[in-house]
Amino acid sequence: MNNVYYGKLIFELTKEGRKGYSLPKNEIENYGIEALPAALTRGEAPALPEVDELTVVRHYTNMSNNNFGVDTGFYALGSCTMKYNPKINEEIAAHPFFSGLHPLQDVSTVQGALEVYYKLQQSLAELAGMKEFTLNPYAGAHGELTGLMIMRSYHMSRGDEKRTKVIVPDSAHGTNPASAAVCGLDVVVVKSRPDGTVDVDDLRPLLDDTIAGMMMTNPNTLGIFEHSIAEIAKLVHDCGGLMYYDGANLNPMLGKVRPGDIGFDIMHINLHKTFSTPHGGGGPGSGPVGVREGLEQFLPAPRVLRHEIDDDTYHYSVEACDESLGSISGFLGNFAVMMRAYTYILTLGRENVKIVGPLATLNANYVKERLKDVFELPIGGVCKHEFVFDGLKDKSTGVTTLDVAKRLLDYGFHAPTIYFPLLFHEALMIEPTENESKETLDAFIDVMHKIAQEAKDDPELVKTAPHCTPVRRLDDTQAALKPIVTYKELLEA
Ligand SMILES: *Cc1c(COP(=O)(O)O)cnc(C)c1O
Repeated sequence: MNNVYYGKLIFELTKEGRKGYSLPKNEIENYGIEALPAALTRGEAPALPEVDELTVVRHYTNMSNNNFGVDTGFYALGSCTMKYNPKINEEIAAHPFFSGLHPLQDVSTVQGALEVYYKLQQSLAELAGMKEFTLNPYAGAHGELTGLMIMRSYHMSRGDEKRTKVIVPDSAHGTNPASAAVCGLDVVVVKSRPDGTVDVDDLRPLLDDTIAGMMMTNPNTLGIFEHSIAEIAKLVHDCGGLMYYDGANLNPMLGKVRPGDIGFDIMHINLHKTFSTPHGGGGPGSGPVGVREGLEQFLPAPRVLRHEIDDDTYHYSVEACDESLGSISGFLGNFAVMMRAYTYILTLGRENVKIVGPLATLNANYVKERLKDVFELPIGGVCKHEFVFDGLKDKSTGVTTLDVAKRLLDYGFHAPTIYFPLLFHEALMIEPTENESKETLDAFIDVMHKIAQEAKDDPELVKTAPHCTPVRRLDDTQAALKPIVTYKELLEA
């Protein structure tokens, strides 16, 4: 693209004295109000860009065009993907009736918001087969920490203080061991079998009376259904531990499998993945935590409780509870994310929620089967919502997963997740999500075949990609070690 605004900082578009906006005349003095005290006024004018209105508009519009998002193209990022984000959710969440609320308002004035909060808790409990949910945690990792604190509170309440270890599979998301460590628990790693699922024979000898519980992700980070869950849950329960379900990627299970029905005691869900909040740039998120009957008293405070006034009239209150593990967030969590989730659940309804999982599974398997002729598929068979390749099949070209990811950008596709999970050297993790059309999936498949062919015919072309993006391949090590985040640093660099 070639225009005068492109690729420039707004400070580089400055023309001294140019204005895009004029403030009304300062009338304070006309009202007899004293001018600001000298101690509060600036010594010199702020260094703001001096630009006309059109320049400002074009500058930011061009910048937004440089961004890649689900609204501009296919985004097959595995694990943390941007799943379906219906626009109606944004409209509802932004409605002034909700967005205009203040967390310190008296509860009598926010009964509608508390009703949404309460009903979302109930919907999640029903979808997950759990007794109760809290919506307080701000993210998946925060939910894990909350869940593990519940696990610890449970053991402590029984005076069982030697349970200080948590079992985590080697395929787990990095947040699992991190949350356990933050909770003050020691991590014991259990190995995976060649088919990517937890190795029950490796698990057995790890179980004793020091085990607080086990964390499992299902489908796991390889997109595989953990088919030994019933056996594993029995082993862990028999030794006195609790089962924790990492439900960050619950969408392939929605309406098909409920974690509470297959032996899990505590779990979290990522509303910003499965329940449709866009979450680029690290936020905003919400990681509700659910528990089975008998653990609800440990949920964090405050909790939203419902009181029946008469037949169909309720009053909602916000309360601390005696045995609660305490507060883990400010107020009740990220309300706008909850609004999106609740809208999404109501929009789909009881029947349509059941086709989310099968569609996610169908799309992933379609892409996998059509690409396994040119990409290395270490674990075959039916996957759930996502799958992992181990780079290109033909290793003789020297073209890596990073090169393929960069070349995809030239064709207008966001790169899949790369080099995670750590089980394969050239991991390329693809999750198409449930709502992509067959035409989009076919276009992606064609481009992936094309790149595989380019890797054979002209490997340099792929190894030096991207060629068509605003900036070429970046030195990510330098970017991490010496980030340039201000204009001043850029001038000095
Ligand atoms: C995304 C993810 C998490 C962490 O969720 P955050 O909201 O990023 O903290 C945990 N486990 C799995 C399997 C995930 O995909």
